[in-house]
Amino acid sequence: MWVYLNDRFVPKEEAVVSVFDHGFLYGDGVFETMRAYQGRVLQLSEHLMRLGRSASSLQLPLPASPSHLAELVRASLTRNSLQEATVRVTVSRGEGDIGLDPALCKRPTLVIIAQPFQPYPPSLYEEGVSVIVVHTRRNLAEAVPPHVKSLNFLNNILAKMEAKAAGAYEGLLLNHAGAVTEGTTSNIFLVQRGRLRTPSLDCGILEGITRSLVLRLARELSIPSEERVVTADDLFNADECFLTNTTQEILPVREIDGRVLADGRPGPMTRRLHTSFRSGLDRFLDRV
Ligand code: PLP
Repeated sequence: MWVYLNDRFVPKEEAVVSVFDHGFLYGDGVFETMRAYQGRVLQLSEHLMRLGRSASSLQLPLPASPSHLAELVRASLTRNSLQEATVRVTVSRGEGDIGLDPALCKRPTLVIIAQPFQPYPPSLYEEGVSVIVVHTRRNLAEAVPPHVKSLNFLNNILAKMEAKAAGAYEGLLLNHAGAVTEGTTSNIFLVQRGRLRTPSLDCGILEGITRSLVLRLARELSIPSEERVVTADDLFNADECFLTNTTQEILPVREIDGRVLADGRPGPMTRRLHTSFRSGLDRFLDRV
């Protein structure tokens, strides 16, 4: 496996970063996870735009222009002969003396890892997954902003550990006001009386690339959708519920906090959106 590190491809074993890197020392940096289908990344420019927005929120200069980064992502797939793949792009503040001041770091560290996509068990999609509402609350937007996909993922990790300890597939985090935000690595949608609902951005969430795509597909399919405050009660009373993210696409939720939704099977709207997502994928894939 070849990993792109700063300015060249190196074998995986040589892809090492300094112990003085502020990404390692302080979680100071940003990242993106993308998925490639038949050698082409889905929504590559959207992912790179979000990387740019995350970086600028941290006043972190990207080490390359979006078009150069796009070339490097494509080159990572080619170099590793990958068709079905995940690609992780990480940009950290870089190497510098110990201390919080970003000025201690002279140049950001860039890492691009392209790996074969590991398919999820089909049973997850056929049966749906169980989720719980965790006690860990989503970071305050005024503290560690959830719209920034940063290397500081402890909020999500704490929630993930809670979910795992409870035997749940995913943990849902509430915000400080008790409204539903998102999963540890996913956005959440519910369906009630034919309407699609998802927490609005001001609830304090990551603006998922898959979330935006699902909202777009809903518009194209004339499915009414709304972004608004969602409560845990809304979820319990939903006809359908599903999670979205780049690697898992659209994943049905079977039960929430031990309460089975509807008949316990993935619902028709969830299946319709996933079918439309898969059949329309080509439109959103990067050029070859
Ligand atoms: N929310 C969080 C906290 C995430 O970490 C992720 C992805 O990892 C998502 C939502 C889904 O985002 P996307 O659809 O861009 O993968």
